[in-house]
Amino acid sequence: MTISSDPKQVKQICFDNINVPGMNTLAVARENGAYAFLPTVLKDFSSSKIIDEMKTSGLRGRGGAGFPTGLKWSFVPRNTGKPIYLLCNADEGEPGTFKDRDIMRFDPHLLIEGMIMAGFALGVKDAYIYVRGEFVHEINVLNAAIKEARAANLLGENILGSGFSMNLVVHRGAGAYVCGEETALIESLEGKSGRPRFKPPFPAVEGFYGCPTVVNNVETLSTVPAILEHGGAWHAAIGIPNNTGCKIFSVSGHVNRPGNYEVPMGTSMKTLIEEYCGGLQHGTVPKVIIPGGSSTPWLTAENYNVPLTYDDIMKAGSFLGSGAIIVMDETADLVALTRRLAHFYAHESCGQCTPCREGTGWLERVITRVENGQGTNDDVTVLSEAATHMAGRTICALAEGAAAPVLSLLKHFPEDVQACLGENAA
Ligand code: SF4
Repeated sequence: MTISSDPKQVKQICFDNINVPGMNTLAVARENGAYAFLPTVLKDFSSSKIIDEMKTSGLRGRGGAGFPTGLKWSFVPRNTGKPIYLLCNADEGEPGTFKDRDIMRFDPHLLIEGMIMAGFALGVKDAYIYVRGEFVHEINVLNAAIKEARAANLLGENILGSGFSMNLVVHRGAGAYVCGEETALIESLEGKSGRPRFKPPFPAVEGFYGCPTVVNNVETLSTVPAILEHGGAWHAAIGIPNNTGCKIFSVSGHVNRPGNYEVPMGTSMKTLIEEYCGGLQHGTVPKVIIPGGSSTPWLTAENYNVPLTYDDIMKAGSFLGSGAIIVMDETADLVALTRRLAHFYAHESCGQCTPCREGTGWLERVITRVENGQGTNDDVTVLSEAATHMAGRTICALAEGAAAPVLSLLKHFPEDVQACLGENAA
């Protein structure tokens, strides 16, 4: 790693070398610090020291839920006689999210090194990267990087003479959104239909093939090398308490420079949009900000200055999620946006739960009627009641994610809906 040892100077962790040409090759990655600290970890660090450093770092999972990573690792039972698995969730299907694919295609060795360190801490022999099926290029880059790492004895038997052995395999998913949910991912990896399981038991206790399993996101695992090299306290000094470190935000929509930006946690939404993304295409304040991917409730102009932390976004009424920020200015057709999202969730529902299977279809049909000018006030009531009753009654959070855009539209912009009803409003 080449990042500063002064936490106040740190602006990027996972993206520190993202623009270095050839960083996907082992030679260039090593020139820029990859695997330099790995021998020290394998020789001098115990499992408990690594987990303690991860807890001290305050790192929260970057996939969406924001669960503390070190705590998750500490839940894994040892000495059960069963193998322990490490799965990297590289499904990245949330609309608006496009950060993990950049790590995989431009700096795959960062992820691989993070997985070796995590695998060493957890006593893993077999680890998998579950990648979204459409990411053909990223899969090829990862496989090439793993081949080079294996040839250099960074993977496989007796890594760097440490006595620790770990295999790493890339598994290509089939592109179902719900497989980003960790238990659906596990089902899919086991060769079954990717459908979420009831929890508990949680994967840390009973996951892949019924064995203790840690599922971490690409960005989370890619942060591990910096934390172990510089120390948990170093990471905890970046950002703000309980929301430490840097985070990659995928910004899309009506901004002048959409893209991925890694910034310290606690940076304000306004700073990210105006200083990093070049501001809005029209107007001075956004009409809608979807802060954590399309499944999260909408924020509005009054939240423009909200600090980008798990806690502040939650206080504002939404979730930081995966950090996929979708910005809509005054030109946005919010009913059309809601209809497109309703179609997406109806298509992606796995069908196990009646409120989700039926409710997502209802939402799509009714909002389409409204958009086409054929809706009535009764339709608005149906939308509100169906969306309200879907949430919290299903196995996974997809139903809640499907309801969020509809409920947000009705709550914040009822006049946009009424304008579509036209003469049917009465
Ligand atoms: Fe499947 Fe929807 Fe139930 Fe999730 S909420 S398990 S996607 S039917």
